[in-house]
Amino acid sequence: MRNSTLKSRFEDKFIPEPNSGCWIWTGAVWNTTGHVPRGKIVVGRKVQRLAYRVAYELYVGKIAKGLSVCHKCDNPICVNPSHLFLGTSADNMRDKVRKGRAKAGSGYNGKPRSDQITYNQGEANGRSQLTNNQAKLILTSSLPVSKLSEKYGVSRRVINSIKSRRSWKLLSSGDQTCDTRFALI
Ligand SMILES: [Zn+2]
Repeated sequence: MRNSTLKSRFEDKFIPEPNSGCWIWTGAVWNTTGHVPRGKIVVGRKVQRLAYRVAYELYVGKIAKGLSVCHKCDNPICVNPSHLFLGTSADNMRDKVRKGRAKAGSGYNGKPRSDQITYNQGEANGRSQLTNNQAKLILTSSLPVSKLSEKYGVSRRVINSIKSRRSWKLLSSGDQTCDTRFALI
């Protein structure tokens, strides 16, 4: 009974997009720094969940613990269950790396900024000064920005933009679909 209520509430909150077939979420949106917005929906007693994960459970089946729900269409606001698949974070990263390379030239979130153009495609971009591995090390390092800047021979601005995930698309977009690591799943 609760499920049918959830389903009818869910079905009021998206619009099918005829060209892509994506179901564009029109309900509440979860925004968090460094990630593209995703739909969210309240289930049960005021528990918020990601709308596309709820879509997967409503139409496809249970999501085993620890698995991510990923988008074939690469459109995180889409909740069409036929565009979703289960993956591990590692699958997810590989998928995003492949897609990221296939889409070389596209700007971050469609809004290229001068400090992203050089770096936002990761090492597939010939102008990158850092490898993906170095960018990952920078992202997870606890060294101060000035030290990292010296160590890798890039400006502090570059270090800061990697740290804030504004640049280095492979890292940030890979992370975007690893939803098991989100605060909201
Ligand atoms: Zn879609």
